[in-house]
Amino acid sequence: MMNQRSASNPKANVLVVDDTPVNLLLLNQILCRHNYKIRVAPNGKMALKSVFANPPDLILLDIKMPDMDGYEVCRQLKLNPETEEIPIIFISALDGAIDKVTAFNLGGVDYITKPFEPVEVLARIEHQLQLRELMVELKSQNAQLQLLLTTTQSINEALDIDSALAIILEKVCLTLGWDFGEAWMPDDSATKLVYGQAWYGNDAKLAEFHDYSKNQDVFHCRGFAARIWEEQDLKWIADASQEESEMFSRADIAATAGLKGMLGIPILLRDSTTGDNSEVLAVLVFFQKNEMQPDRRSLELLKAVASQLGSMIQRKKTEAALKKANLELERLANLDSLTQVANRRRFDDYLELEWNHAQREKHPLSLILFDLDYFKAYNDYYGHQAGDRCLQQVARSAGSAVARKTDLLARYGGEEFVMILPNTPGSGALTVAETIRDRLKQLQIPHLDSRVSPWVTVSLGIATTIPTAQEQPESLIAAADAALYEAKSQGRDRAILKPLPPNP
Ligand code: GH3
Ligand code: MG
Ligand code: MG
Repeated sequence: MMNQRSASNPKANVLVVDDTPVNLLLLNQILCRHNYKIRVAPNGKMALKSVFANPPDLILLDIKMPDMDGYEVCRQLKLNPETEEIPIIFISALDGAIDKVTAFNLGGVDYITKPFEPVEVLARIEHQLQLRELMVELKSQNAQLQLLLTTTQSINEALDIDSALAIILEKVCLTLGWDFGEAWMPDDSATKLVYGQAWYGNDAKLAEFHDYSKNQDVFHCRGFAARIWEEQDLKWIADASQEESEMFSRADIAATAGLKGMLGIPILLRDSTTGDNSEVLAVLVFFQKNEMQPDRRSLELLKAVASQLGSMIQRKKTEAALKKANLELERLANLDSLTQVANRRRFDDYLELEWNHAQREKHPLSLILFDLDYFKAYNDYYGHQAGDRCLQQVARSAGSAVARKTDLLARYGGEEFVMILPNTPGSGALTVAETIRDRLKQLQIPHLDSRVSPWVTVSLGIATTIPTAQEQPESLIAAADAALYEAKSQGRDRAILKPLPPNP
């Protein structure tokens, strides 16, 4: 809230500059009586020295002085960014319009003519101090609105939670004049707080403080951040060095780094149905080298930023969960539910992809199509459920023969499987086919009704081609199918390789 300054408030610091001792004395008396803190300077040079050493809240400045006149003093003060904002009231016996215009042109805020009325001097000083206060207030309001705007923007643009936190810790510190900011997050089990990656500190000593805090790693269920986590509310300590060590375990290290005041605020997840706070997503802790005495507006601003951050983290978490769910859905959509190998849909997509790839690169592309021997009889003999289990075993066994990451085993339909082997010539595919046949046989799944073996066996047809624009992937499937048919008719439990018939 605005802290209205009044004459009874002794804080305003006024510098009176006049080369006439009587004037100095008079002004001194008037102002002292009204609780101002007075400093005097008998000439321009001393005035400048005094201002630069310790800037006053306001200057009463005589114009006509030997060596350096009031105009020159004013000019020099306006040249320096540290002093340009100090209000200057000229006080002079010069009464001409031109003098007043010069005074205002140089940046004076008011003009009092001598001889002066004490009440007038007091009223004009009071008025200027109030204006100054309003101005400072407006400026800080402006900076704070700017903070809210830029945080909202950067939160929306941030790629992840850590980078959003880093931006916010820095912006909050810069805007509210704090020196250090850090973030704590509950770990997955929500039993302890872990020091976050994002932090802000404005000098080298604070980097040491950060390193120390980081190495603490966890903040057990005691201490300042943990209190905020539990109570889900903003909290501050004016001077942490006055706290018992249980409340703030890093007190010594903070003191070494020159930190005194601290303030923590929780970032809350709001329950979307009840609107209640349901979870603390993070705790932000800020430090400053002075005592922490935040004003109401700083607190409101901080809460607004925290609430923005809360929605952002919530949104990012929802997005991540959605992405995961989508990936899982996609995986399921491409998977055969019985055998857990790729399904026909995935096979079609992948064959098309690799067909085009092989065509571009002029690489051979091979296909192995295989089918269980006398599987109808197996089902009839052992039952359909045993048949299903058998298909699962065959898929697992064939899967173990997948040699390269780019190879894909899929269930083609019923008791038929297919393997796509990119960048593999016929000879290589034949080797893989024999491996599939061998491994299955070694499993020795009994098949008492098979006419070719006491165990479950497969027949395999292999086709290979270097795809051209004139051919379609279907021709490769057809060739593999023809090879499989031949393997069946030659007695089953074997692999046959058939090259693609040459293009007409
Ligand atoms: P061949 O050696 O000539 O391949 O003879 P086959 O009996 O294996 O071939 P056929 O095409 O006559 O029969 C295929 C059988 O595969 C029919 C069906 O009972 C069985 N089958 C197909 N899909 C499934 C399935 O998902 N589960 C089970 N348990 N059996 C299946
Ligand atoms: Mg069969
Ligand atoms: Mg079949």
